[in-house]
Amino acid sequence: PKAAQGTGRTADIECRLVVLGSGPGGYTAAFRAADIGLETVMIERYASLGGVCLNVGCIPSKALLHAAALIEEASHSAEIGVEFGPPKIDLDKLRAFKDTKVVGQFTKGLAGMAKQRKVRTVQGVAKFVSPNELEIAGSDGKTQLLRFEQCIIAAGSQAVKLPNFPWDDPRVMDSTDALQLAEVPKKLLVVGGGIIGLEMATVYRALGAEVTVVEFMDQLMPGADKDLVKPLADRLKKQGVIVHLKTKAAKVEASKKGITVSFESATEGQKPELESGTWDRVLVAVGRSPNGGKLDAAKAGVQVSERGFIPVDRQMRTNVPHIFAIGDLVGQPMLAHKATHEGKLAAEVAAGEKKEWVARVIPSVAYTDPEIAWVGVTETEAKAKGLKIGVGKFPWVASARAVGIGRGEGFTKLIFDEHTHRIIGAGIAGVHAGDLISELALAIEMGAEAGDIGATIHPHPTLGETVAMAAEVYDGTITDLYIPKKK
Ligand code: NAD
Repeated sequence: PKAAQGTGRTADIECRLVVLGSGPGGYTAAFRAADIGLETVMIERYASLGGVCLNVGCIPSKALLHAAALIEEASHSAEIGVEFGPPKIDLDKLRAFKDTKVVGQFTKGLAGMAKQRKVRTVQGVAKFVSPNELEIAGSDGKTQLLRFEQCIIAAGSQAVKLPNFPWDDPRVMDSTDALQLAEVPKKLLVVGGGIIGLEMATVYRALGAEVTVVEFMDQLMPGADKDLVKPLADRLKKQGVIVHLKTKAAKVEASKKGITVSFESATEGQKPELESGTWDRVLVAVGRSPNGGKLDAAKAGVQVSERGFIPVDRQMRTNVPHIFAIGDLVGQPMLAHKATHEGKLAAEVAAGEKKEWVARVIPSVAYTDPEIAWVGVTETEAKAKGLKIGVGKFPWVASARAVGIGRGEGFTKLIFDEHTHRIIGAGIAGVHAGDLISELALAIEMGAEAGDIGATIHPHPTLGETVAMAAEVYDGTITDLYIPKKK
């Protein structure tokens, strides 16, 4: 497609493809497009590439969770006869590890790879001015006009800022602020018991904060099955993390003493479990909202929903055929690994390949302690949809490997379609669950039956073995457990 429609102004930059945003979705799209041979420009408002995930999300949080896991493991090691003293935490050093050794290395790597591929990166905030033009406002106050033939919008999402919180007070934090690790507060309130809330609760608890979590729904991490979340909820409780369910923050007041929050019950007319309290810091982690509404997309004729999502088809095209959109702003789940796949697809379709979205499932992982990972249909969903399912569940207390590392609290659960005996969903609660779930995503993609999974030889003793054993539980061939036969 030729760049036909525009303002008639002289363009500062002309390109075949422009990618708006350099998060995991955006850089994947740009790099793939360049590798296929499209002349590509990538626009990013911040100085470093990688978006929320690399700079202030998935990656720095994992660096901090690693520190939390070390502290936690050392605190239990006396039970097996290895004793350490209490941890001495050097926050500056920990922050430097996260920022320099982890995030810094990868943002530099991205800039290097962009250069190697001859992807031109432009720093600035871009907005559409016509169906084929973007205006980019640089931080120096200068604007540039970019004319493109095709565009991939990958501008992501931002944390929802609950309106009743005093956001200009540094003690009120979103996930980006919490990752800065300005201090370890004595008392931290986490509003929202979802993935971000629980990952950050894990970090701050390990670093020594007294943590309270309030969650609006009747369970933590409402997207996952209740049984899957239980080992995590139990461990948090043992660690002293206070959790209040069916509770929402109502009134918030900042004073010298701290942030005072009063709560309401999620059930109207009922008293909340906790009425109010005062904390040194508050993290608000109640979800993210798409950035689709910030791009003047209407000037390109691109439809944006009221909430800021941009609808796309199975090839990631918006209603304007030469403009694609990917990642958080095209819909849930807002996950980096969904965005990267969408980015690759959009780049390939833009280059003329006849492809469409084929993934059956997108795995979810909470990198808490223990980790919770799930993929495909959950039991709750299956019940709601009236699907006839069978479940194979293998408790990790029966895994010598899990017990050998002192972590027998988890389990592996496989969900099968009772008609086809094919696996349609899975959940794992336990350490390294996030690394174990991929096999089950592959099994679902391949249409594996319980027999296929059980008959695949898994190394012994591993946590991965629990996957095969859960399949054997479903098939009735398990020998590592004794399950009395139904009469
Ligand atoms: P989330 O949707 O996972 O959780 C938000 C939680 O807050 C929900 O449980 C919700 O019920 C609760 N909530 C909403 N309003 C509330 C209120 N007023 N009071 C109390 N509770 C309230 O969102 P998140 O944890 O903020 O994460 C945002 C996005 O980032 C998600 O889409 C998530 O998938 C993604 N993310 C993924 C990972 C990962 O893959 N490991 C990590 C972090 C974030």
